[in-house]
Amino acid sequence: MSKEQKYSLFNDVCGFVDDAAKHMNLNPGLIEQIKQCNSIYKFNFPLRHEDGTYETLTGYRVQHSHHKLPVKGGIRYSEHVNEDEVKGLAALMTYKCALVNVPFGGAKGGVRIDPLKYNENQLEKITRRYTSELIKKKFIGPAIDVPAPDYGTSAREMAWIVDTYEAFNPELINAKGCVTGKPLSQHGIDGRTEATGQGVFFGVREAVQVEEDMQLLGLSVGMKGKTVIIQGLGNVGFYSAKYIQEAGAKIVGVAEWNGGIYDPDGVDIEALKSYQLKNKGFKGYTKGEFIKNSLEMLTYECDILVPAALENQITKENAKNIKAKIIAEAANGPVTQEAEKILLENGVLVIPDMYLNAGGVTVSYFEWLKNLSRVSFGKLEKRYDMEKYDKLLKTIENATGERFTDQEKDLLIKGASERDLVLSGLEETMVEAYHAMNKTRKDKNIQSLRTAAFILAIERIAVSYMDLGIFP
Ligand code: GLU
Repeated sequence: MSKEQKYSLFNDVCGFVDDAAKHMNLNPGLIEQIKQCNSIYKFNFPLRHEDGTYETLTGYRVQHSHHKLPVKGGIRYSEHVNEDEVKGLAALMTYKCALVNVPFGGAKGGVRIDPLKYNENQLEKITRRYTSELIKKKFIGPAIDVPAPDYGTSAREMAWIVDTYEAFNPELINAKGCVTGKPLSQHGIDGRTEATGQGVFFGVREAVQVEEDMQLLGLSVGMKGKTVIIQGLGNVGFYSAKYIQEAGAKIVGVAEWNGGIYDPDGVDIEALKSYQLKNKGFKGYTKGEFIKNSLEMLTYECDILVPAALENQITKENAKNIKAKIIAEAANGPVTQEAEKILLENGVLVIPDMYLNAGGVTVSYFEWLKNLSRVSFGKLEKRYDMEKYDKLLKTIENATGERFTDQEKDLLIKGASERDLVLSGLEETMVEAYHAMNKTRKDKNIQSLRTAAFILAIERIAVSYMDLGIFP
């Protein structure tokens, strides 16, 4: 049996729910209702190539929980996509949304393709056909099910999705809210591209601020000087690394599927990313050591390990060799249930995925609200008499002896921009959720932050299901 067949992300997620349920007093029937996926849609569709040949592709959309509508979750393009993976990822979305109080049920979709093997024209055809299949079965819509980017997709695919959806629904005034993560030109929201990485940064920053935990781990408080290894330099990995580095930590390694870079003096993330884009990998990058077997890098010495690629990366096979004190799960499901048990025994602090990468869906929620209200957030453009405002600020400075930073001046004169609002909403969400999670962990006297996160999420979902009642 292959590694992929043996491993079940969905079973792992259900296992995490069972761990949390042991600390709760809920009807077992309700727990079972919460765990299962409400609707699973698997479909095959053809793609015609320019030379006349064609192939059949497989797509999925799984709606895990209808306790809140619409359901929400990304669309993944990867050759590893399968029903179990989509079910597991959809379930994680339910718990993630509940934990950060975003009022959606969970969903996920995917197409089993390696997107690198298709040109842009083919990817557009695949995306539009995939969308039309969802439309036919009512598996997409601003009030039903709202996709977003995930591994292998980006704002480009979301633009194709919204355009296809609008073509089939010309009279629907809220049609733009059928998908999030769109380009700004297509009613996306400023800050969505960076949102998941930005949220990862806020989450790690909160974790390293808790004195008691840092003491137990033998680490200093704060981000400064912490050594970090990142797995995956896609959208989530890149922005997580960038913000973590800007806060004073040192990225000593970046592992990608086709090789990694290790440099104890610190990797320049922006330089490495632009090299990767040009060369489709790190091979030939001259600063630092090229590591062919990049999976090994997960076991290198560092303070914080950030898996930001795919699930099933830290397993019972390599968990015992992990030297990092903190594992920050930027990806969904990177640590298996068995591996987490070993890590906890070794005193490692695991910041769980359902919390740490919730920044993406949080900002998706802001985008969806913006689309429904059809108003841009933040100031409406207007002309400013800059000279007058400048004089006014100088008078205040002279009178109080205070000095405004340029950023403060900008805020005072122009008001908060959409980006400012998105960032502050995201920061507040991540800070609040961390402390709620940590408090539950302390109150219930449990070691695992993940179990605490699941307890909080399940409590909220259970209330929602109980209030809904059972139809008929
Ligand atoms: N794909 C992202 C996730 O796994 C974002 C989902 C969304 O914004 O709906 O959380």
